[in-house]
Amino acid sequence: MAITILDYVKSVVGDKDFYTAEDCLASGVDILGGCQGCHATIAAYNAYPSTSGYWRCAHCIGNDGYATVADFTAPASAACPSCGTTDNISENRITTGERAEEYALECGDCGEVWQQ
Ligand SMILES: [Zn+2]
Ligand SMILES: [Zn+2]
Repeated sequence: MAITILDYVKSVVGDKDFYTAEDCLASGVDILGGCQGCHATIAAYNAYPSTSGYWRCAHCIGNDGYATVADFTAPASAACPSCGTTDNISENRITTGERAEEYALECGDCGEVWQQ
């Protein structure tokens, strides 16, 4: 089951009987939002953060939610655009012009090189 926005708020402000708009604000989230899928109005307790970056309702979250608060708060890891792995990505400098060098990411699994 995916975590809700409220689960995340709880992890920031601690366990309480009642969570207010201020608690949400302190956690950097809104107390009300809209579902990306069906546009229903949802509140922190029934809003699920999805990997798309938008909130979804319980019906629309599907498999796009976060299993744990730690997953939700982890810095977005780069995923290989070719094979999708996130485990074996390294940062390299590549030559992008006669005198230009830029950072690029390289996938250790399939060899794909890309820039973010
Ligand atoms: Zn929905
Ligand atoms: Zn790859």
